Formats: sequence, C-alpha cells, structure tokens
Amino acid sequence: MHAPAPTVVWHAAGEEAVLEALDASREGLSASAAAERLDSFGPNALPKAETRSALRRFLAQFNNLLIYVLLGAAALTAALAHWVDTGVILAVVVANAIIGFIQEGRAEQAMDAIRQMLAPKSSVLRDGERRSIDSALVVPGDIVLLEAGEKVPADVRLLEASGLRLEEAILTGESVPVDKRTAAVAPAAPIGDRSSMAFSGTLIAAGAGRGVVVATGGATEIGRISGLLSTVETLTTPLVRQMDGFARWLTILVLLIVAVLFAYGYFVQHMPFDDLFMIVVGIAVAAIPEGLPAVLTITLAIGVQAMARRNAIIRRLPAIETLGSVSVICTDKTGTLTRNEMMVTTLAGGAHTWAVTGVGYAPDGEVRLGEAEADLADHPVLLEFARVSELCNDAALRRHGDDWTVEGDPMEGALKTLAAKIAPVSDFAAWRRVGAIPFDAAHRYMAVLHKDPEGRAWIFVKGAPERVLSMCSAQLGSDGRAEALDQAAWDGRIEAIAAQGQRVLALARREAPDDQAALTAADVEGELVLVGLVGLIDPPRAEAIAAVAECREAGIRVKMITGDHAGTAAAIARQIGLENPDRVLTGAALEQMDDAQLAAVVIETDVFARTSPEHKLRLVTALQSHQLTVAMTGDGVNDAPALKRADAGIAMGQKGSEAAKEASDLVLADDNFASIAAAVREGRTVYDNIKKVISWTLPTNAGETLTIIVALLLGLALPITAVQILWINLITAVTLGIALAFEPTEPNTMKRPPRRRGEPLLTGELVWHVVLVSTLFLAAVFGVYAYAVDKGHAPELARTMAVNTLVVLEIFHLFFIRNIYGTSLTWKAVKGTRVIWLCVAAITVAQFLVTYAPPLQQVFDTRAVPLMDGVLIVAVGAVFFAIIETEKQIRLVFRKPARAGSQASPARMAEA
Ligand code: ATP
Repeated sequence: MHAPAPTVVWHAAGEEAVLEALDASREGLSASAAAERLDSFGPNALPKAETRSALRRFLAQFNNLLIYVLLGAAALTAALAHWVDTGVILAVVVANAIIGFIQEGRAEQAMDAIRQMLAPKSSVLRDGERRSIDSALVVPGDIVLLEAGEKVPADVRLLEASGLRLEEAILTGESVPVDKRTAAVAPAAPIGDRSSMAFSGTLIAAGAGRGVVVATGGATEIGRISGLLSTVETLTTPLVRQMDGFARWLTILVLLIVAVLFAYGYFVQHMPFDDLFMIVVGIAVAAIPEGLPAVLTITLAIGVQAMARRNAIIRRLPAIETLGSVSVICTDKTGTLTRNEMMVTTLAGGAHTWAVTGVGYAPDGEVRLGEAEADLADHPVLLEFARVSELCNDAALRRHGDDWTVEGDPMEGALKTLAAKIAPVSDFAAWRRVGAIPFDAAHRYMAVLHKDPEGRAWIFVKGAPERVLSMCSAQLGSDGRAEALDQAAWDGRIEAIAAQGQRVLALARREAPDDQAALTAADVEGELVLVGLVGLIDPPRAEAIAAVAECREAGIRVKMITGDHAGTAAAIARQIGLENPDRVLTGAALEQMDDAQLAAVVIETDVFARTSPEHKLRLVTALQSHQLTVAMTGDGVNDAPALKRADAGIAMGQKGSEAAKEASDLVLADDNFASIAAAVREGRTVYDNIKKVISWTLPTNAGETLTIIVALLLGLALPITAVQILWINLITAVTLGIALAFEPTEPNTMKRPPRRRGEPLLTGELVWHVVLVSTLFLAAVFGVYAYAVDKGHAPELARTMAVNTLVVLEIFHLFFIRNIYGTSLTWKAVKGTRVIWLCVAAITVAQFLVTYAPPLQQVFDTRAVPLMDGVLIVAVGAVFFAIIETEKQIRLVFRKPARAGSQASPARMAEA
C-alpha cells in the first residue's frame, strides 16, 4: 500500500478537503510524521524490473558459437575415447564460463551502483521549511515544490500553480504540454483532463507550483499502468559491438578454413582421422579470439567506475568512447567554471555606489559608503534593496553552527543574505505573496505580487539589468523618491560592475491596485520604478582553471556559453584562461547571423554571452559542421535539444533539471568543469585500453594459428598439441588480457591531440603490428622447437619448450603493449601495476605447474624443462621484446609530424 484509502476523489475535491483527508497542511509534514508515513506506506519507488537469475546468467555463458564448437569437439574426442582431451576441453569450457560469469556480475554491479548515484531529488516542505530530499522518501501528505525541468515525484493535488505546464506523454501519449491549475475538475474526467493534478513521472515543461502528495510508489497512476519501467541496459558501445561482429565473422571464417585444412590433411596428406581432428580443433581454438568480448566488457565497466570516481556518471555507455575523442567543450559558466557561491559585494542606486562586506552566506556584514557604514536613515533606498531581495526570492538560508548554506538558487541565497545585512528579516514576515512569474532563462527576470501588512499590493521584480531597465519608466533617488530614469548612466554603471567579473542584477518595484490578485507578464512591462543594481561575485573554481589548461594542452578548445552579461563573461573567461576571452558574441548578435556566418566565426570565438538555450543548439550544429566532436553542458529544461544534439551531452547533477539529465550522456555529480576534463581523460584511457586489449590479443591468436597451420602444411610434427593450445588460449591469454583492462592512464594521454572523428579501430598500424608480432611468434616457437629436436630432446620436451616460449612471448608482449604511445623501458613502465604483476605471477605459477607437476604433466603431455633451456626461452622473449620496442620507437619518431597533421583539431581548423 502506498496511499491512504481514497475517501475523496482527489482531482474533484477542493484543496481544503484534500488536505483534511490526508491529514496534511500547507506548511508540510513534520519530520516525525513523515518518518511514520514512510514506515507505513513504504518508499516512493516503482517495483523493480526483474533481473536475470544467477543460474540463467551462468547458462548464458555457454550460448556462444565457440563453446558449441568446443562441446562438439568434446563429444567427438569422447567418441574416439581420448578421455584426457575430453576432460581438458570440458574443464576449459567450464573455467571460461566461470570467468565470464564473475566478470559479467562485476560489470552489472558497477552499472547498478551508477544508477543509484542518479537517484532523483525532490523539494518538499518539512517542518515548514524547504528541504531537498531523495524522491524515494516522499510520502502522502508531503507538500512538494514543482519547478520547470523537474519531474513530478509522486501523484500530487495542486495547491498553487503559476504558468504550470506538464508534459504527460508517458501517461497519455500526448506530447504537447498541458496547462495545470488548482481548480477541481469533474469526478469523471479522464487522466488527460485532470488539470488539478500533477502525476508522478511527468515532466514540468514550464512554470512553477506546489501541491500535496496523494499517492506514492506503486499506487501512483504510472505505478498502476506500468510497474516495470526500467529496462536493463547491456554493457556495450559501438566499438565493442564492432568487435563482437568482427569476432563472430572471424569465427565463421576460421571454421571454413579449418574445414579446408581438414580436407587437405585427410585426402592429400593421408593423416589419421583422430590426429587430424585434434589438430583442426587446435587451430579453431587458436584462431578465434574467444576471450576478447569478455575482456572488452570488463574494460568498459572499469572505465565507467573510474569516471564515477571522478564525479562523471555515464548515462549512455557509448559516451565513454565519444568523450575520448572530444575536440570542443562548450560549457556553462555559473557553477561549472565558477563556484556558484555568490555574494553581493556592490550596490548601485540613486547617486551612490555602496560596498557590502561579509563572508559567504552568513548574514554578518555591513553596507559601506567609502570607509563608513551607511546609515539607513540617510539612505532609505537601501531598505528597498532589502525588500525586493527578500521577497522576490524562492531560496532559503539554512544555518548549521557557523556554517550557512542555501536551499535553492545560490544567487537568491546571496540576496537573502544581503537583505538580512540591511534589515531584520522579521520586518518582512507580514508580507504575503499572492502571485508570481517564476524566473525563466528565456525572459530573464522574476516577478512577485505581494500584499503589505496594510493590505496594499506591490510588484517586485529582479532580473538581467538590460531586461529590467527596459521595463522601467522611473528610478528611485537616494532619498527614496521616484525620479526620471537616466538610461545612459545606468548602462555605464552596468558595464563598470560587469567589467570586474561581477554578475549584475537589477531590482525594481511598483505599486499595484490593492484588489489585484494575480500577476501576468503585462503587469510588469513599462511602469516599473528601478531600485538599483546589485553586483555579485562568484569566484572561478581553482580546479577549473587547471582543467582548462589541461584541455588546451590536449588540443581541446573550451568555449563558455552563458546567460550572463558580456562584460562579466569576458572578465571570468580571462580569469579562467580561455584562449580568446575578449571576443564575445552575444545572443542578439548571434541571432542576426545565418548558419554559414555563424559557422565562420564559431571556431575563433570562445565566449558567448546573454545566450538563450536555443542558441546552444545552433552553436553545436555550427561546430559539428567543422567535423568537430562537441561536448556541451546544460542544466535547464530548454537545454535538452542541444544536449541531445551534442556528441556528448553533459548535465549538471546538482543544479541540473531532470529534463536535462534525461537528455544527457553524462551527468556531473559535482557540476564541476574539472570533472569534464577528468571524464575526457578517462574516455581516452578506456579507448586506449580497448585498443591495447585488441592489439595484444589478435597477434597472440594469429601467431598460434600460423604455427599450427605451417606445421600442418609442411607436414611437420606439431610443435604444440591441441590441448596445449586450449590451455594457452583460454586460460593464459584471458588472464593476461584482463590485466590490460586495468591499465592506468598513460602519462602523455592529455598531451596528445584528440582522436579523429570516426577513426577506425583496426588501423593499418594495427594490422602491421599483428603481422609483425605473429611472424615473430612463429619464428620463435619453431626456432625453439627445432633447437630442442636438434639437441636430441624427446618430442614431448620439445613441445613443452615451445608452449613455454609462447607464454613467455605473451608476457613480454604484454609489457610492450602497456605503453603504445611511449617507451616501455622506463622504471615506471617496468614496475607496472599490481594487477599486471598479479596476473603475471598467477600465470607463471600455473605454467610451472603444467611443466613440472607430474599430474599436470600427464594431462598436458609435458616434460620438465632443464634449467638452461628455461633460461634460453626467457632470453628469446627478451630478444623479441627488444625487436618490437625498437620498431615502435622508429615508428613513433616518424609518426609524430604525420599524426598532428591528420587531426581535425580546432587549432588546425583555424589555420585552414
Ligand atoms: P550560465 O548560463 O553560465 O549558467 P547564467 O546563470 O547567468 O549563466 P541564466 O540562468 O540563463 O544564465 O541567467 C541569465 C540571466 O538571468 C542572469 O545573468 C541573471 O541576470 C538573470 N537571472 C538568473 N537567475 C535569476 C533569478 N532567479 N531571478 C531573476 N533573474 C535571474
């Protein structure tokens, strides 16, 4: 049960009746009542989609073409009474399934943890105060505050609604937002017509309101019709899918080749059937990169976790790849580049400019004129500043000991603090709000209608200064009396405050007819009286300055797109270290341009000021027309289209709306620009690691395959048996390959230019690497085998040495691959990571057992290798390493100029 028994039809009952039925009040529940209700109604969450059972997940590991081939081989070997082979094949199949099962479980856990981090929040009234709580804790009777861009957390009967419009598509299929008001509707009204209700899961497209929760969790309308909303996302990206496809295609190709070889061996070379059969099974196992998909999945899961640790939460997995190739980041200013800890420091009104002292949101500080504290009696206009600041405001200040924090918009919090520094808050307690126009980035102001204690009506407005000035016809003088508006003087004062990097806001007011009961946009146009300007500081984040520098080194251009004033934006851009801070394009100028003109200036302009959300969409499109990979941040409901259009849409986790989060690929838990740079670094690391896993796996497979095919074609004895191949490929290769998934970021990762858009994974360079390394594998294995035979060793011992050579080569190759962009011969590179050494140690021990432990010697048909021959094998590995490392160094020297030239980096675009 998630709702009280409905004694009333919520949408048809009056507000008071609803509140009474729910035993609730407009001031909200007390904390203790809320806790009791949470106990009896349960959390506000929809029933979870069923996850696959462990058994089914385990069985799914066997649903794979290669496993079928192996099981078929096991059946045939059993039929031929090769019991040891059957046993080994089955053991390997089961071991492989267990490894896959454990890895997949870890990956799923990682994704679950990420989903937890994205749990939505709601604003409710508890004990009469605004609180932000997990939506799961909302209970029937709670008063919830509804704001544009948020999702309605539960079914709510509205008590207040101003311009409230909800998108109810998930319930009604109707995509056009519908108007909501508080008046009751007919009991028989269908869901789409219940305008007095806001339903759980619907999106607030515009306006604001508040209401009382009537049902939560499974008892809501959405809970009733769906139950199972969340779908299980699989852990994959385009690249990984591409590799899966490649692996499948390779499997089929290998099976065809194997069939041909089988025919050749049987009909041309007249080999006995069961020997030949074991050889072709060996080839199939050697050639198919069966461990690859599992290792790639784990690489992605580790990348997702690494990003989450850096406060970047991946919502859509493909973003991991895209982030690594980002060449332009378009970012908001407030809260992302700056700290969003605002404080009013300047007031300008009448003939004076005052300075405000204090620290943070604590209401301790004073208003000063020159060196002395300003006296309210001499400066009555200051009281007007306090009144507009306090009343045209939706935020709340909260005190924790000496610490003050804000619930709501930090800028509004700073205005509350200002009001408290000027006059006691109790002065305004008797004023009652009767109407409001909420702030919207499209109109850039907020207005309220209040009744004063004597019953007179007042309109208070705050907003972007140009906007508010355009609504004013007069100004207050220092004496508090209205006088003619001096527009030119105000323009100068705005520029002067903005040039210091302060955010400027204008405050205005006017008297309204006493009987006025609602506020519309027409009421605030033209007749307002300007109170003055407020200048707020919002210092840049130190980490953001460092992150911008890091991005510039990584060939990524950072652009600031802000709703703020051009002067403020340029000043902050300079402090943050953007490349071109003084060339500012305003939203108004942008609107005058057609797409071609915009595309021409967009590369060299780094600061866009006074923009609206729809400008963001045009900017992304213009940047993408230059083949740039664009990351774009956003927080508001109107930012959703730009976030969707961007290659990587990034939403703010704290101040971002639900709408922005849903449209995004990545959510920043801390709203911090530095986390974007960290995500890009992790994105590049994941891409590198995927590349490393592939570059390591493919040559290993190719080398083994070539060895057997060459032996077969030349009619030589096999240097490695099929069972040994199984061991190498399914146990050593997978274990060592996993180590690469854990590789840390290479030191020069953020000093390289971004990867080209659409750069294929299987590049010519990679193909060359596969050819080179597999040829070396072939030469080394045959060389060691021939040497052993020549020395008079038994064939079993010669094969054992060949197997050990392969494993040693794999390990040396692993250390080589760890540094594809630099040298592998530094102490740091050799020291490696804990994971690398754990994997190498595990494989070394296993390899010693296979070589020297009698029971395993029986299974794998191996013999103890004499010490000097063992040393020789390691030496062969060292020579192999020296050859490929030298080849890499030569390649790196020649590649540098060529690579930089192939980048579509903004710097180069500008040159072009
Ligand atoms: P950014 O886009 O970098 O986050 P921003 O916060 O300035 O910058 P918007 O939220 O679009 O961008 O705000 C645009 C302008 O509207 C602000 O510069 C300010 O002048 C005004 N403004 C912002 N919030 C409010 C508010 N709550 N009430 C009144 N005016 C506001």
